[in-house]
Amino acid sequence: MSTMLESEQTELEAARAYVKQVYDSVVQRNSMEPEFLQAVKEILDSLLPILAKETKYRENGILERLVEPERLISFRVPWVDDQGKVQVNRGYRVQFNSAIGPYKGGIRFHPSVNASIVKFLGFEQIFKNALTGQPIGGGKGGSDFDPKGRSDREIMNFTQSFMTELYRYLGPDVDVPAGDIGVGAREVGYMFGQYRRIRGAYEAGVLTGKGIGYGGSLGRKEATGAGLVYFMREMLNGAGLSFQGASVVVSGSGNVAIYAMEKAIEFGAKVVACSDSSGYIYDRNGLNLDTVKRLKEVERKRISEYVNEHPGSEYYEGCSGIWTIPCDIALPCATQNEIDETSARQLIENGVKAVGEGANMPSTLEAIDVFLNGNVLFAPAKAANAGGVSVSSLEMAQNGMKLAWSAEEVDEKLQGIMADIYRSAMAASQEYGVPGNLVAGSNIAGFQKVAEAMLAQGVI
Ligand code: NAP
Repeated sequence: MSTMLESEQTELEAARAYVKQVYDSVVQRNSMEPEFLQAVKEILDSLLPILAKETKYRENGILERLVEPERLISFRVPWVDDQGKVQVNRGYRVQFNSAIGPYKGGIRFHPSVNASIVKFLGFEQIFKNALTGQPIGGGKGGSDFDPKGRSDREIMNFTQSFMTELYRYLGPDVDVPAGDIGVGAREVGYMFGQYRRIRGAYEAGVLTGKGIGYGGSLGRKEATGAGLVYFMREMLNGAGLSFQGASVVVSGSGNVAIYAMEKAIEFGAKVVACSDSSGYIYDRNGLNLDTVKRLKEVERKRISEYVNEHPGSEYYEGCSGIWTIPCDIALPCATQNEIDETSARQLIENGVKAVGEGANMPSTLEAIDVFLNGNVLFAPAKAANAGGVSVSSLEMAQNGMKLAWSAEEVDEKLQGIMADIYRSAMAASQEYGVPGNLVAGSNIAGFQKVAEAMLAQGVI
């Protein structure tokens, strides 16, 4: 027995040395990319149990290959603004891993976009997409273009120019982008129009998140937020808890946040706060979602305007203050690193029972540790926000078959997928000795699928 334990210990040390060696080389090669390094560290550290048990991954250089994108494309995006002035932005697409299917991942338009951001997102996407059980690889893209304050014509000019370069790297069986921050149905529509015009063919499956009238899937718009709440329902259920009567804080008021709020309210929760990049609104009696939707989706206004229509509510400048509001369930749905260690501790002091990541990497590594050690149910982004890409994959399937499913059919499939993701993350956490740790569980389950496909396909 003791020899057995000793050999396990030796394998664990070997796995640790392997992870360190790979991570050190990633740091050396990508030293100016903090977000990418953060994502790689989070994932590699959590793979230790499986790397210790299965030597084949070490022997076949799986990690070394996984951390290096298959391709990183960077390009000039020239366009003309409403004043007739030439503007130049930078576009990116990272095609990270296609072992289990065509590259799949959203496009982000935000001034903060750079190689580090698209690589962190693309790297995470590999594991997330594998977890969905769908045949999709990992990719991501975007531009440092800031859509705020731009006219509709400027958005179209920019988006068409962006696609004029990007189109040559895409295809329904090659690389299939979708929306992300700053890219919604309008931008996807402009991208699809330009792609179709240049290719001279109607390849509906080249982009997802399209309008319903031209190949989009019912339920895609709601999928990430609703999927997050479906995932949380499974997790809460496992602990004898539910959304019924729970008080919920949601950051952001974009696509993910709005439909997470909608589903949480449908399940009997009271959503007391949400935000945008300027500040947050708080109403202890529960927010009026119709007003939030109109302000953000239709009028594209600031969330601060909400308090003019709802006198009992309050508005505060700045984003991190939202995590000082007492709640049972916190759903960060805005952006990366929005919950740091201090905010995580504050949430726990105020009695939070569960945290579900709607955004990508919204919690810092330190914040995740606080949650995992603090008896909080923690649903990591990779698993919890996979509903969007899952329905994107269903959109690709419908496009391939040239048919359209009903909203009910899509929703039923989404619920099944989110429950499956929860089960496989939980099962992996138990099998690899970290029961209930869904960070490790989802990383391991996603990794295993991709790594096996890479092994089967040889060194490429
Ligand atoms: P979105 O519709 O553009 O909304 C983003 C929201 O977050 C907006 O309310 C925005 O405020 C706020 N925000 C942006 N940057 C911020 C910052 N630095 N600090 C505080 N708030 C900020 O984007 P989304 O599609 O909901 O995406 C939100 C997150 O979910 C991202 O991390 C994205 O990668 C992730 N995600 C999205 C999907 C999807 O299907 N859309 C799928 C998986 C993951 P303003 O209105 O002021 O800009």
